[in-house]
Amino acid sequence: QRRDPDQVEFQEAVFTVLDSLEPVLEQHPEYIKANLLAQLVEPERAIQFRVPWQSDDGQFHVNRGWRVQFNSAIGPYKGGLRLHPSVTLSVVKFLGFEQILKNSLTGLPIGGAKGGSDFDPKGKSDSEVMRFCQSFMTELQRHIGPDLDVPAGDIGVSGREIGYLFGAYKRLNGYQNGVLTGKGLTFGGSLARTEATGFGLLYYTNALVKAQGDTLTGKKIKVSGAGNVATYAIQKATELGAKVITCSDSDGYVYDPSGINYKIVQQIKEVERGRIKEYADRVATAQYHEGSVWDFDVDYDLALPCATQNEINQQQAGLIAKDGAKYLCEGANMPSDPQAIATYRKNGIVFGPAKAANAGGVAVSALEMSQNSERLSWSFETVDNRLHDIMEDIFEKSEAADKKYHLDKNYQAGANIAGFEKVAEAMLAQGLV
Ligand code: NDP
Repeated sequence: QRRDPDQVEFQEAVFTVLDSLEPVLEQHPEYIKANLLAQLVEPERAIQFRVPWQSDDGQFHVNRGWRVQFNSAIGPYKGGLRLHPSVTLSVVKFLGFEQILKNSLTGLPIGGAKGGSDFDPKGKSDSEVMRFCQSFMTELQRHIGPDLDVPAGDIGVSGREIGYLFGAYKRLNGYQNGVLTGKGLTFGGSLARTEATGFGLLYYTNALVKAQGDTLTGKKIKVSGAGNVATYAIQKATELGAKVITCSDSDGYVYDPSGINYKIVQQIKEVERGRIKEYADRVATAQYHEGSVWDFDVDYDLALPCATQNEINQQQAGLIAKDGAKYLCEGANMPSDPQAIATYRKNGIVFGPAKAANAGGVAVSALEMSQNSERLSWSFETVDNRLHDIMEDIFEKSEAADKKYHLDKNYQAGANIAGFEKVAEAMLAQGLV
């Protein structure tokens, strides 16, 4: 806190994790002796760089780029790139820190990292995005590699951006398809990567709901966001027999009591790159409202925030409880602020934290790395089945830690502990202390 008093998001993420590690530290004095936590919260490396680019009207612009390589105790650095005007070093560090434990929870050999830029892709032409990505990669390429650091997508970075980034990397270093994940299917991408985070969220949620002796069938779900995670969460929730009644973007939300059709969201957001408002123009039963979906008062059973960090505050968490939601699982990273999480607990809402619930994306990214190493492509079904097993395993590990440390259904602390134990053992064994 003394070192980075202005890094609010990073501190929020760190304190939430450190609080929950207390019972583990009591049982492992060797972690304290090795000052392991001080190492864990300090990135191995944080790179900041200039990204100059030219817009179509001939003007020159300069953005900031970052890559924070947080922890490589259990494998090469792995984590997405975010393009959004709200990106700062604090945001990248919070995401990179979360990524360490999330990646550990998947059971796959990947370390934690994150990167991005304060560039806003919204409203930019394809050629502007391409020139930005080429400039970004001109610097990033010297810090990454298939066995060193493997970036992927996040907010504002989907197939189009990964394609441009990959092309720029290839031009400088030759073809190395394991250097990025989330690639197109024609050049080393994995089937089911696009769907992975949303599908994985529902596999995790299904396991969590089942563990309470309940089922997803017939549940009414509020989803926020209308991007990659939200779209495929809506698809899988619908396939599992639930009904999603909302989705949103940063301007407003759509309410459709007859159930959101993910194909229309996909058409508007992925194909036309439009705004979610247009959903209500196409579907008679839908209404569009400006503002946050978390201020919208309607009865439902389960909340899946899939937009961005700190989208739910204490007051909105109170409304979630009042509206009757029994479960909340996070598709976005850190969408609930600490007071919101305390409110869920106070009201008996069973909470699935981001680092467990949304780990499906990075898990399938790691499977993409495996396929690239083998020079083989697995079928959609093979990848999807592995994703399903990984998400159930993540829930089981979190539940086991919850039981072992008598946390009273605190799956957040359970996930932190389960993710931390593996990283801590690896750090100690490697003598990084
Ligand atoms: P996208 O860029 O595809 O979509 C983001 C969505 O959230 C858009 O609908 C966007 O609306 C909305 N949004 C962004 N900022 C805000 C805001 N301040 N208020 C309200 N809505 C907002 O990103 P993803 O779906 O990939 O990512 C969503 C979340 O999931 C992020 O937290 C990300 O870190 C996390 N995540 C993503 C993974 C992945 O595989 N993609 C993996 C694990 C986590 P608008 O268009 O108006 O900006």
